Amino acid sequence: MSRRRRISWSPSVTLVPTRHCFNACGYCSFRQTAPPALPGGLPADSLDDATAQALIAARPDALEVLLLSGEVHPQAPGRAAWFRRLETLSRLALAAGRLPHANAGPLSRVEMARLGRINPSMGLMFEGVGPSHDRLHAGAPSKRLEVRLEQLEQAGRLGIPFTTGLLLGLGERPAERREALAWIARIQRRWGHIQEVILQPFRPHGAGATPLTPAEQGDLLGTIAEARAILPPEVHLQLPPNLWPLEALPAALEAGIDDLGGLDVADVINPAYPQPHPARLAGALAAAGWELVPRLCVHEAWIPALHPALRRRVQALAQTLGHGC
Ligand code: SF4
Repeated sequence: MSRRRRISWSPSVTLVPTRHCFNACGYCSFRQTAPPALPGGLPADSLDDATAQALIAARPDALEVLLLSGEVHPQAPGRAAWFRRLETLSRLALAAGRLPHANAGPLSRVEMARLGRINPSMGLMFEGVGPSHDRLHAGAPSKRLEVRLEQLEQAGRLGIPFTTGLLLGLGERPAERREALAWIARIQRRWGHIQEVILQPFRPHGAGATPLTPAEQGDLLGTIAEARAILPPEVHLQLPPNLWPLEALPAALEAGIDDLGGLDVADVINPAYPQPHPARLAGALAAAGWELVPRLCVHEAWIPALHPALRRRVQALAQTLGHGC
């Protein structure tokens, strides 16, 4: 009997420290523009400890706590207070026996180093290159190419296992997708810390979901295959399963996808696109010869390089998943 091929996912709960964001990306439906209003200059919608603890407790199966934050300007009066919130929420996750994974925009070297001591992995989307991305990011200073490249380099210098990704379908050309993948590949060859690259199809926001058409799927399947060829083999390729028709998912795995990312009960970035229930996902994939296996936010190969205190904690949780690392 042939062995099933494996596809990983991370049981996850998402905390949003704030939706306040100083960028204005042309496609964003996540951002809120409420001015700072709390003591210390914190954004008005900042997540408090009690709410965060309740959200974590409500998802006992979620080993990853994704901290997905709007971005606070580096010179904003509330920057320090916002950053301390990120640290506090990370510690709350650890205290609850979970692992934080922060994705909060560009960080200074000191900020990234501090968060990296309590986050086994972190993330920042590369997004993409070319005129269409430039247009949509004209109001988003932190999404300039040089800023994103420096953040990936900085994470590499600090040895932080890192997730990045491309937002696909915003009008970029195939050559521009290849150029973006080549940038990530070069950084990975230099530092070796890029654990996964998300290939995220852009989907329109509205009252309901607009599934990918067969033509759009065909276009993206070509990009998945190119990503697999361009990126070093240790880099996992991730696809958000709520943005891809379930019946067509096996074709994406055949093209090179080997991870489905962190799955919460809902997608806070794309709320119109419901997450498939893990049991339904596992059933659909099993029928096509794939085994869905849970993982931690940090992929197994990057665990040995973690700081010893963090590594011991991660290894203990890995044992609960049946991973011997
Ligand atoms: S950085 Fe993120 S939250 Fe801010 S506007 Fe852009 S997509 Fe929205």
